[in-house]
Amino acid sequence: MTDAQVSKSRPTSADVAIIGAGPAGLTAAYQLTQQGYKVTVIEKDPVYVGGISRTVEHEGFRFDIGGHRFFSKSQAVVDLWNEILPDDFIQRPRMSRIYYEGKFYSYPLRAFEALWNLGIVRSTLCMVSYAQAKLLPNKNVRSFEDWTINQFGRKLYSIFFKTYTEKVWGMPCDEMSADWAAQRIKGLSLGAAVLDGLKRSLGLNKRPNDGMATKTLLETFRYPRLGPGMMWDAARDKVVAGGNHVLMAHSFKQLTQDQVSGRWRLTANGPNGDVVIDAAHVISSAPMRELAARIHPLPACALNAAPKLKYRDFLTVALKIRSADLFPDNWIYIHDSKVQVGRVQNFRSWSPEMVPDPELACVGLEYFCFEGDGLWASSDEDLVALATREMAILGLCDPEDVVGGAVVRQEKAYPVYDDDYATHVETMRSELEARYPTLHMVGRNGMHRYNNQDHAMMTAMLTVRNIVAGDRVYDIWGVNEDAEYHESGTEGEQAALASVRDVPARVTKAA
Ligand SMILES: Cc1cc2nc3c(=O)[nH]c(=O)nc-3n(C[C@H](O)[C@H](O)[C@H](O)COP(=O)(O)OP(=O)(O)OC[C@H]3O[C@@H](n4cnc5c(N)ncnc54)[C@H](O)[C@@H]3O)c2cc1C
Repeated sequence: MTDAQVSKSRPTSADVAIIGAGPAGLTAAYQLTQQGYKVTVIEKDPVYVGGISRTVEHEGFRFDIGGHRFFSKSQAVVDLWNEILPDDFIQRPRMSRIYYEGKFYSYPLRAFEALWNLGIVRSTLCMVSYAQAKLLPNKNVRSFEDWTINQFGRKLYSIFFKTYTEKVWGMPCDEMSADWAAQRIKGLSLGAAVLDGLKRSLGLNKRPNDGMATKTLLETFRYPRLGPGMMWDAARDKVVAGGNHVLMAHSFKQLTQDQVSGRWRLTANGPNGDVVIDAAHVISSAPMRELAARIHPLPACALNAAPKLKYRDFLTVALKIRSADLFPDNWIYIHDSKVQVGRVQNFRSWSPEMVPDPELACVGLEYFCFEGDGLWASSDEDLVALATREMAILGLCDPEDVVGGAVVRQEKAYPVYDDDYATHVETMRSELEARYPTLHMVGRNGMHRYNNQDHAMMTAMLTVRNIVAGDRVYDIWGVNEDAEYHESGTEGEQAALASVRDVPARVTKAA
């Protein structure tokens, strides 16, 4: 069934109305459909389901927004992925490096390689500043910068931490809180890295019982052959095949609860005007800030908490380049401060089927930005020109070889955790949940959490169980949000539900 056909059928009544056809919304829709519920999903994007995990197609080339590895410690999530997409996963080797001043550095860093690449003078300076930091550590550690310099010395900090971190978060490292650094970089010390490098050189770095299974999982990952959106297209198709509806190009406009029946009236604005869905439950994966502002009458939190939630946005400039692949990595981190690009994805390394022309390479230059700032507001043409220029500055390609480009903008890619965000989220959660037991917030921006796909899905899966049980039996706010879970642990091993903070807070400046 095509999107147009889907949106022509306009149901007015459903058991559950769902806002957003991303991983969280479609997981809920899929599981509710399986259990015989009448479900209608509204999605504001006219073309794509999958949200941040969609795959954008341009002239047969496919782009993944951010690069989505499918890895979860939750067996329930892995099982669901296999159920929705049984035949289309491929296992891909994982490789990513840091690019700095013309040289590639392994990621995670290998000490000897790093020292070799840096050369004798810079390496000596690194060692001297490391020794300085160890002998005379800063006793008043407040910021990311203080913490990281204490750990690695100023020189290594400036090469391997400062530039990239500032590109991603759009704030100076001396304004980011130290607790985030401790959380993020915990377990990494120069001493351990040197030891690891030594062991690797001598072939002694195998862990006991480190069988192929573990090794394979860490060094490869699963990926749908046509990108992550393939998973969510399949989920949407199953929802529609089950007799339910996914209304594309329908934006959430207003939500009102009937005081007598307790049923919801969800108004969505679509290509043919407003559509009203009458439903017993509403699941929202729309940003919390938007949800609160569109409930009628306005809850108190719409004024005192919701407007204070902030986001970091993101755009990818995909370039088609006449060349063999430029590098073997899935992606490289760009630590050079001469350029604005933060990361470069190599789409063929994710899946050969993402790049249909064997004569061309296709890379995605990722720029972290704020909606409305200079980068975000630039025309596509200017962004393609910028990306082409920056590839040349980095020495990664000859601009003459760039034969085309496309821009994908992703608003609200990262929910920002500033000093007060947790209080605002808690204010909203407690007011909305207490007042509206049949309104459910799920997912990444829907809960203002740095959730990856699996955790976004898990919040939806628990919400479905709550709806079926007729009560909030499961606490979805207990689902883990550890962003770097991929790097350690075993697929399906699950499931510590401890909450780990993984994005930086701004240091509160002294008055
Ligand atoms: C750079 C980057 C890299 C990532 N890498 C990985 C990775 O390797 N592995 C991984 O598992 N996860 C990764 N993630 C996280 C993953 O993208 C998200 O966890 C996941 O997409 C969240 O799903 P969601 O449904 O909660 O939200 P979203 O993906 O944001 O989907 C929400 C949907 O709701 C729709 N919507 C919003 N507002 C409205 C409205 N008002 N009306 C109608 N529809 C609306 C949106 O259009 C969207 O389709 C990455 C994220 C980023 C930014």
